[in-house]
Parts: sequence; C-alpha cells; structure tokens
Amino acid sequence: MTGIDPFEVAVKQLERAASFMDISEEALEFLKRPMRIVEVTVPVKMDDGGVKVFPGFRVQYNWALGPTKGGIRFHPEETLSTVKALAAWMTWKTSVMGLPYGGGKGGVVVNPKVLSKRELENLSRSYIRAIYDVLSPYTDIPAPDVYTNPQIMAWMMDEYEWISRRKDPAFGIITGKPLSIGGSLGRIDATSRGALYTVREAAKLLNMDLSKSTMAVQGYGNAGYYMAKLGVELFGIKVVAVSDSRGGIYNPDGLDPDAVLKWKKENGSVKDFPGATNISNEELLALEVDILAPAAIENVITKDNADDVKAKLVAEVANGPVTPEADDILFEKGIFQIPDFLCNAGGVTVSYFEWVQNINGYYWTEEEVYSRLDEKMTRAFHKVYNTAQEKKIHMRDAAYVVAVSRVYEAMKDRGWVSK
Ligand code: GLU
Repeated sequence: MTGIDPFEVAVKQLERAASFMDISEEALEFLKRPMRIVEVTVPVKMDDGGVKVFPGFRVQYNWALGPTKGGIRFHPEETLSTVKALAAWMTWKTSVMGLPYGGGKGGVVVNPKVLSKRELENLSRSYIRAIYDVLSPYTDIPAPDVYTNPQIMAWMMDEYEWISRRKDPAFGIITGKPLSIGGSLGRIDATSRGALYTVREAAKLLNMDLSKSTMAVQGYGNAGYYMAKLGVELFGIKVVAVSDSRGGIYNPDGLDPDAVLKWKKENGSVKDFPGATNISNEELLALEVDILAPAAIENVITKDNADDVKAKLVAEVANGPVTPEADDILFEKGIFQIPDFLCNAGGVTVSYFEWVQNINGYYWTEEEVYSRLDEKMTRAFHKVYNTAQEKKIHMRDAAYVVAVSRVYEAMKDRGWVSK
C-alpha cells in the first residue's frame, strides 16, 4: 500500500473538477460527504467451531439520481476511507453513464483466500444480515467487486430473500448473479468489454491501429483476464505483459490469455509462466507498450513512477489507479487517459441491464446486451471527450464535470440545495 488516503484523493479530484464548473459552495460541501455510512460487525462461524468477527461497511454516497449502486469488496486491507472513495466514484460512474442510480460501495476487512467455501458462504450471508435494513431493490443494490464473485452474489441474494420472506422482487436486490438465478448474459466480462469499447474510440482519435498495438495489463482477476482475452479476440491487440499481486510476466511475442489463466489457477500466480520472462509490477507499468491497462487496485501510478510510463494510452480498468499528482505528469507527457469511472463503467452498466431484466422478468440475448453496452459506452466516451476539448481540460476532469453536473442538477430539483 502507498499510504495515500483514497478518500482524500476523491475529494481532491472533486474540488479540482469544481473549479471548471459553475457549482455553488453549498452543493460542493454536500458532495464532499457520503450521505450515509453503515458500519457493522460481521460474525462468522468458522469450520473449527469458533466464531471470528470481521469489520464491515456499506457507504451510500449520494442518491440524488436514484437508488445507490455499487460493489462489495472482501479485502484484508479494506478501510472505511477506501470504501468512501469507491462509493463517491460509483456516484460519478453511474452519472457519467446516464444510469438512474446513485453511488454506493461495501467492504469487509477479510482475506477471503484463507477461508473455506463454507466459511465464505457464512461470511456472505452474515454481511447481508448485518446491512439488511439499508438494502432493497429500490434503495441500494450491491454487486461484485474485488475478491467477490457471482457465487457470493447468489448467497447474498438468497439470504436477502429468506429474510424478506420473498416480499420484494429479490432478484433485483443484487447484480452480478449467476445466470440460473437472474444473472444477465454478458455481465461476467462487461467491465473489460466496456473498457475495450472506450479503447477502440480513443484509438480512432489517436490514429492507432489496434491490430498492430501492444498492451500490458496489471492485475489478472476478472477484469484483467477479460481485458487480455477480449483485447486479443475483439481487436487483435497483442498482450505482451500481465501481472498479479505476486508479480508479472513479459513476452514480446504475445501471451495466450487462457493459457496464462490456466497456469495461474494451477500455480497461484501468473509468475514463471513458460516462455515468458518474470517482471515486477513496477517494471510492467514502465514497459514500452501502446496501451497500459491497470486492472487491479487503487494508487498504483503515483508521482514516483508516473514519469516512467511509456504507453500512449492508459485505460484505467481499476478504480482509482492514478493519483492526482500522477494525472498531471501523464497529461504533460501527452499520454491519453481514459479515466476509471468512464473506462470501467461497463460492469455497472450491465448490472443496470440485469436489474432492468429482473424487475421486468424478461431476459435479453447476449447480442442485445453487447450492442446496448457499446452504445452507452461510446456515447459517454464522446460526451466526456467533447467536454475535455471544449474546456481544454484532462479527460478525468471532463468526466467529473459531466457527472457532477447531473448530480448537482438533481439535487437542485429535489430542493436539497438552495442554489
Ligand atoms: N464493482 C463494479 C464497479 O466498481 C460494479 C458495480 C455494479 O455493478 O454495481 O463498477
């Protein structure tokens, strides 16, 4: 960890964006604070018969535009500050995409990798029991995030349904579910697919031929893996480097994303993949590639290493991978950034599609999901790009201006602020 406080970063970004907008002081003060923070204790029955308790949070940052929406993280280094920052970013993410949602995020301070399957189920159900009062399909709708997955969403949905005695349309309480219980086609790779649609649009502006481009992907969880796999499949991008928390691998001739995934599953890391050279995460970020896709966690490109970045295009698949000081350095170097809450908004966009399908009880084909996702990502990308051009500001600042303006307008219309 870098010692950088994520919520301070989120507030700094907001203040900076506000300087490019016409926004009242009172609205800005409102937006610098989460509307609701829920802090809970999550007791879990362990396999040895004992009980362990884990701290948990759910932050509902702002609901001016609709029910709060956002994932749940199970992470050993989770903090309330991180969850607050991520909840703020969800608010801007749903807004920039034009979705009828506010933003929220949840987290439990736990290392899920050391839990048995039964302990993980107990944890997932216990967390829902702890935060049940603040959830409903029309109030706050969680989803997967770092170290949570469709199976965990299934247990959570089921727990919610038992508690509510099936009074709510429970499928709509959580998204990112397995297909058998209301999941949407296309949700599993939606974050990366959406990110690649924005990469395609950026590449057109930069006159980059993606079929002749190279990419390095930091992180090999769900988002990192699909970024690599679909990068190859959709656009013929050559993926030359990938990494995970234990280290990275590099092969200038290109890596086969599925073979790397198989290796990671068998060996616990992408490291030592046959035919590739081991590199560190730091080295990966500094590679001479066309596209750099940080797809792991926050604060990986900082003022200390931003100068080493050599990519033409940085696609921020993770939430918060670049600090504000590093933003300035990348901008000065002429590197085109697709800011996180635009780049990775494909996940929540297909979550929105899943929720719409759940509430209507009518399910779409994969093609319908993909084409609607493409349309929304492309539209949001150009709205942000045009704003950046008009105001001559960074893409991140432009994304903020678009997102914050919409939330601000809703707050004024509701009478939450006087001006
Ligand atoms: N956790 C994802 C994100 O950060 C998805 C959230 C959602 O689908 O609600 O955007």
